[in-house]
Amino acid sequence: MARDPRFDILFEPVKIGPVTARNRFYQVPHCSGMGYRYPNAEAQLRGMKAEGGWAVVSTQEAEIHPTSDLTPANEARLWDDGDLPALAAVTERIHAHGSLAAIQLVHNGLHVANRFSRMIPLAPSHAITDSLDPVQARAMDKADIADMRRWYRNAAVRAKRAGFDIVYLYAGHDMSVLQHFLSRRHNDRGDEYGGSFENRLRLFREIIDDTREAIGDSCALAVRLAVDELMGPSGITSEGEGKDIITALAELPDLWDVNLSDWSNDSQTARFAEEGYQEPYIRFVKSVTSKPVVGVGRYTSPDSMVRVVRQGILDFIGAARPSIADPYLPKKIEDGRIDDIRECIGCNICTSGDNTNVPMRCTQNPTIGEEWRKGWHPEIIARAVSPEPALVIGGGPAGLEAARGLAERGVDVVLAEGGNEWGGRVARECRLPGLATWGRVRDWRIGQLSTRVNAELYLQSPLSADDVLQYAIPHVAIATGARWRTDGVGRTHRTPLEFLAEGNVVSPDALLSEGAKAVPADGPVVVFDDDCFYMGSVLAELLAKAGRAVIFVTPESQVSPWSKNTLEQGRVQRRLIDLDVEIITANALGGRTKERLDLSCIYSGKTWSVDCTTLVPVTARLPDETLWLALKAREDEWADAGIKTVTRLGDCLAPGLIAAAVYSGHQYARTYQEQADVDQVPFRREDIARLIGQCPA
Ligand code: ADP
Ligand code: SF4
Repeated sequence: MARDPRFDILFEPVKIGPVTARNRFYQVPHCSGMGYRYPNAEAQLRGMKAEGGWAVVSTQEAEIHPTSDLTPANEARLWDDGDLPALAAVTERIHAHGSLAAIQLVHNGLHVANRFSRMIPLAPSHAITDSLDPVQARAMDKADIADMRRWYRNAAVRAKRAGFDIVYLYAGHDMSVLQHFLSRRHNDRGDEYGGSFENRLRLFREIIDDTREAIGDSCALAVRLAVDELMGPSGITSEGEGKDIITALAELPDLWDVNLSDWSNDSQTARFAEEGYQEPYIRFVKSVTSKPVVGVGRYTSPDSMVRVVRQGILDFIGAARPSIADPYLPKKIEDGRIDDIRECIGCNICTSGDNTNVPMRCTQNPTIGEEWRKGWHPEIIARAVSPEPALVIGGGPAGLEAARGLAERGVDVVLAEGGNEWGGRVARECRLPGLATWGRVRDWRIGQLSTRVNAELYLQSPLSADDVLQYAIPHVAIATGARWRTDGVGRTHRTPLEFLAEGNVVSPDALLSEGAKAVPADGPVVVFDDDCFYMGSVLAELLAKAGRAVIFVTPESQVSPWSKNTLEQGRVQRRLIDLDVEIITANALGGRTKERLDLSCIYSGKTWSVDCTTLVPVTARLPDETLWLALKAREDEWADAGIKTVTRLGDCLAPGLIAAAVYSGHQYARTYQEQADVDQVPFRREDIARLIGQCPA
C-alpha cells in the first residue's frame, strides 16, 4: 500500500549538523536492561529499530567513567577502549539499515552510589546520593572539574571511534552531573561554577565546547535537557531557567532533545497522562533556537505526529515506548498500514525491566528483548512447514496472541471465547479508571485476526471437554484465565482466613464486571492489597470516585510498591490521598466481625480494628483450570479424537502480568508443534562467565 500523502511531512529528511536523518522518526535514548552486560541483545534490539524505519536510533545512557557506575543496572558503558567492541556492534546494526546511531554520554554525578567500582561519587557540592545507599558524593574541586572535562572528551572520542554519528550530552532526569551543576538544589558552590546562572552553566558550556572539538566536524552534537522538573520554583522550570539555558546555549549543539525530569515525569503512564503530555513544557524551544528539536509524549497516532511538526513544536517525533511497542511504526506509516501499528498502551512494564536490572519486556510487543536470544522478530513469524489446525480456547491476551501468531503462520485456527466480548481481563481492566488504553492489547489483535481468512473467531462459545473432544482439532490451547481469590491467601497469608466469611467479601472480579455497584453503598469498604501492583489502588480509586468511604490496607510500607518499577508509585499514592482514601500500611488481616475488621501490625503483631462493612481482598489469583482438568481426566481419549497436544497458556497456567500472558501466547504460536525439551535452556546466553579466557589476565 502507498503512504497517505498527509503523512509525507514525517518522511522529510532533516539535517542534524553534519549528518542527515532520512525521516523525522527518532528513537531517543532509552534504557533496555541489556546494555554492556548483554551486548548482543542490545545490538540486535537497536538494529531492529533501524530496520523498522527509525532514522535515528540511540543507545541508553553510557557511563563515561568508573566514578559513574550504575551497577546493577545494565546501561551502556564507555569506561575504556575495552567497551568499544560492544558499542561498535550497536552502530554496525544500526548502520546496516541506513539509520544514524546516537550515543548518550553521561556522568551520573550524585545519582550513583558506585556500588561496583567503590569509587567516591562526584557532585558539585557535598551531597548524599540518590539511592538509599549510605553513600555520599564529594564536592568536586578544580582538579576534579578538569578530570571530568577530560573524561567527557575521552568518551566523545571513543564514541566516534565506535562509529556513532551523534554524540549526546545528557542533562536530564536529575541523573547527570551536568544537570546537577545547573541546579540550584544541588549546587551551592562559591566559585565560578556555582551561584549565578552563568556560573552554574559554565561546566555545561565548557563540556559542549570540549565535545565539539573532540568529535570534529563529521559527527553531530546533541544535548538532552530537562526543561522542567515539575517542582515549581525549587527546580528548573520551562518558563524560568529551562528556557534560559536553551536561550543561552541555543546554537551550540546541532540538536536539542528536550523533556521533563525526573524519569517518572518524563515517562508518565497512561493512567496519569495523555499522549502529548509534554507539549506545554517543550513548545517554547523552537522559538529560541534554530536547531532541530526532538521531544517525546508517547505519540502513537500519525495524525498527532503531523500536528506537532506542522505546529512547529518539534522537528523530530521522539519515541522510546512507541518504538518498543512497535519497532516498525515508521515503516507501517510509510507503507500505508496504519491499522497494523501496535500502539503502546502506556503501562510502563518496559521500565520495570531496567528498574529490576533485567532485559526489558513489553505488554504489546512480546518479542522485545528476545531478538537475539530467541531470534524473535517483531513482524516476522515463520510460516509453519506443515501446519496442523489449532483450537484456542479463551479470548484474553494469551488466547488472542496465540491465535494471531498461529494465523500469521498459516495455521487454520479456531478461537472460541465463552463470554460475549473479546479481551478477557483486558476488556474488564480497561474499564477501570485511567486504564482505557489497555484495550489496545485486544484491539490490535482482533484487528489483525479479522484480516486473516484462516482464523475463525467465535464469541459466546464456552467449550466443555466434550466439545473439545468432538471437534477433533489436533492442537488445543487452553487460555481460560484466572480468578481472584477471596479467602485471603496471598503473599502475607499463606493459608485461608476462615474469619473473612464473618462479613461481606466482594471479589475484585465482581468489581471488574459490575463496577463500584458490586459494593454496597453503606459503611466503609476496606481494600486489602497484598498484590502490591496496580489492582488494589485502581479498585480503591474506582470505589472512592463512586463515593464510597475507602480504607486501603497493605502489609507493605507504601501503596502499590511494585509500581515503583513502572515509575508510578508516587502518583498512585498521591491519587489515593487526593481522593481521601485512608491509607494503612504495615498491617495484615487479624480477624473479622460483620462491622469490624481486625488488623495486625506486621512488625509487632499488635492488633486493632477498623470499621468495615465490605472487604475487597486483592491478594492472589487461581487459574481457571476447569476445562484443563476435565480434558486431562480424559487423556486416554485424546488420540482417538485426533488430539495431539493440549497446552495451557497465560493466566490459566500461572496468573501473572498481561505482558506475561501475551508472551505465553506468542511463544505457543511459534512452537505449537514442537515438544519443548525442558532440560535445555530455552534461549541463547551471553553471560560473562562464558567469556572466561577471552579477557586479558
Ligand atoms: P489470559 O490473561 O491468560 O489471556 P483472561 O482471563 O484474560 O486470561 O482470559 C481468559 C478468557 O477465557 C476469558 O475471556 C474467559 O471468558 C474465557 N474462557 C474461560 N473458560 C472458557 C471456556 N471453557 N470456553 C471458552 N472461553 C473460556
Ligand atoms: Fe508501551 Fe507498555 Fe510496551 Fe512500555 S511495556 S512500550 S508502556 S506497551
